[in-house]
Amino acid sequence: MVFEIQGKFALITGGAAGIGLAYTVELLKNGLGGVVIADIDGLKGSEAVDYLNKKYGANKAVFIKTDVTKADQLEAAFKLAISTFKKLDLVINNAGIMNDANWELEIAINCNAVVQGSLLGMKYMGKNNGGNGGVIVNIASILGLQELDGCPIYVGTKHFVVGLNRSFGTPYYFNLTGIKFLTMCPGVTDTPLISEASKFALQGYPDIGKVLAEGLGSLPEQRPEHVAIGMLKLITEGENGSVWVAEGGKPIYEVQIPERTSLRKN
Ligand code: NAD
Repeated sequence: MVFEIQGKFALITGGAAGIGLAYTVELLKNGLGGVVIADIDGLKGSEAVDYLNKKYGANKAVFIKTDVTKADQLEAAFKLAISTFKKLDLVINNAGIMNDANWELEIAINCNAVVQGSLLGMKYMGKNNGGNGGVIVNIASILGLQELDGCPIYVGTKHFVVGLNRSFGTPYYFNLTGIKFLTMCPGVTDTPLISEASKFALQGYPDIGKVLAEGLGSLPEQRPEHVAIGMLKLITEGENGSVWVAEGGKPIYEVQIPERTSLRKN
């Protein structure tokens, strides 16, 4: 099922900076009708919408200061999208942190808020709730597909996103809601999340900041714009439930999660 970006309306969490801002730019460049940016950083959010509205046209981008871990704030962002654009077609649950030192917050942002954003997406876009269907992209990571010693809890949160999305991306939910669920797994990308990662490593483990920096440093790097180009392809062409990698500035590719060999009931 091809999803055309032209004239569609989106909500992007964590879209004030980093890869989320790059997604916003790429989508507006390709005809997105408008976007709500929901981010905890008020200053960066205001700067982002000023820039986007000058570049892509007045009122294309709207900012709402949102802590995605607060369900009422996240829902307010969805309501703003509907009241501003009269419809919503695309949600990217992108806000995320790498901070094993504060793993409760990390899980709250990377897991709980992604669940909340997915449920709200189905509430506001689902055909079963009077919506038109659409697309929900949840952001995992290559660290949702492999281990890394330096940030075990972050790795766990990103594996969570992969499992959540593959399960929401099944025919049961699609037949009900008309929403396709897609997973984007970026590789190491040049943002503060990476450059400052070692400061936020798990406490009490010798040299773990160094271990984390070395682990991340061993992986190929890319710019946020590279992931954003891949995001466009993913949204338009990705099949419901599919999982894609954008790494090293190369074209994105779909990964198949191996079937386990043990017997199932059927
Ligand atoms: P970033 O730190 O550059 O930007 C994250 C954005 O999220 C910021 O604008 C920040 O203000 C916002 N944010 C943080 N906490 C929030 C909260 N509670 N509520 C609302 N907004 C909040 O990070 P990034 O590198 O652009 O990462 C974006 C996503 O991509 C994350 O989910 C991250 O885990 C994932 N990712 C990043 C990389 C990478 O190498 N940078 C690789 C794979 C996956």
